[in-house]
Amino acid sequence: MKRDYYEVLGVSRSADKDEIKKAYRKLALKYHPDKNPDNKDAEDHFKEVNEAYEVLSNDDKRRRYDQFGHAGVGSSAASGGGQYGGGADFSDIFSAFNDMFGGGGGGRRGGSPFGFEDAFGGGGSQRKRAASGIPGTDLKIRLKLTLEEIAKGVEKTIKIKKQVPCKECNGSGSKTGATETCPTCHGAGEVRQASKTMFGQFVNIAACPTCGGEGRIVKDRCPSCYGEGIKQGEVTVKVTVPAGVQDGNYLTLRGQGNSGPRGGAPGDLIVMIEEKPHELFVRNGDDVIYSLAVSFPDLVLGTKVDVPTLEGAVKLTIPAGTQPETMLRIPGHGIGHLRGSGKGDQYVRVNVYVPKELSQQDKDLLRGLRKSPSISPEAHSSGGEKSFFEKARDIFG
Ligand SMILES: [Zn+2]
Ligand SMILES: [Zn+2]
Repeated sequence: MKRDYYEVLGVSRSADKDEIKKAYRKLALKYHPDKNPDNKDAEDHFKEVNEAYEVLSNDDKRRRYDQFGHAGVGSSAASGGGQYGGGADFSDIFSAFNDMFGGGGGGRRGGSPFGFEDAFGGGGSQRKRAASGIPGTDLKIRLKLTLEEIAKGVEKTIKIKKQVPCKECNGSGSKTGATETCPTCHGAGEVRQASKTMFGQFVNIAACPTCGGEGRIVKDRCPSCYGEGIKQGEVTVKVTVPAGVQDGNYLTLRGQGNSGPRGGAPGDLIVMIEEKPHELFVRNGDDVIYSLAVSFPDLVLGTKVDVPTLEGAVKLTIPAGTQPETMLRIPGHGIGHLRGSGKGDQYVRVNVYVPKELSQQDKDLLRGLRKSPSISPEAHSSGGEKSFFEKARDIFG
């Protein structure tokens, strides 16, 4: 049973963004894994706190949560949202956490995954901060593609919801653009806490909880973005997808993720590829397989048929005597290779069509045919017994 998010953060239902953020910072610092090594309980609390914050700090999600409870923001609701789907996984939590605390970026940008590399002693001066602001978070979206689009590659224009710089304050977070040195850390962006233990004195250096590591705080907070310098917005992005991608591949669009608070560098946009199942074709690597039902006379006598491919219909020759389950190949009608040039092939799996309803006339024809020895498999399988055609060849040379 999930706990109420307001209860998790210890705030009232009417708490404003500031109160929520403050409560989150306090609890996140308290339960951070770096401070609680090998403490499963703290880790669970940390995740719970992050989950609550992720929802309550987002106007849209908070509204849904207020209205529908956990169901409104659960993973099912998130993935049901199509393009915008995707719940936060643990690494997302850390990257959001790092962004908030200016921890020098997540693992992908180098540095410790917690951004607290200098938390317990050590230099502390090597923490790198953006010239201004905190970096924006990465954004993950899903992109559904048809097999036709994957076969050739495609350029997609998609709308995404993301954090964009606030127009009111030009992303500065301040009505007037003014900032002042953080009174807590005096501009250092980090705070030192000395603690005495039986082993001696330890100095703990952590990101400043007041300024989040920026060293400066905003004066005359912008009322539109509550001093964050970013707001939820909608933008259009062009995504160029190469041929041959498959389910689970992703494309990273540098700098197209969420804008950072107060002028921080934007995060990346990560586009996860999803392949829509196709009505006619089954994909096998870069080849596609199509099932074709052919009548018994056509299999025996051979014929030409129209077969659909990813690029329209093509004529396919069914040679006389084609056996069921034969795979016929249409070269170069598969999916473009992701690496290198060229394309896969289309395979046509031939099946025999067996009608269930027949006219009296057709039945009579088939009964007549059944009497012919060459129709029966026994004529061919018993080794010594010669088939009708073999006998005929013997006779007529
Ligand atoms: Zn500070
Ligand atoms: Zn603003």
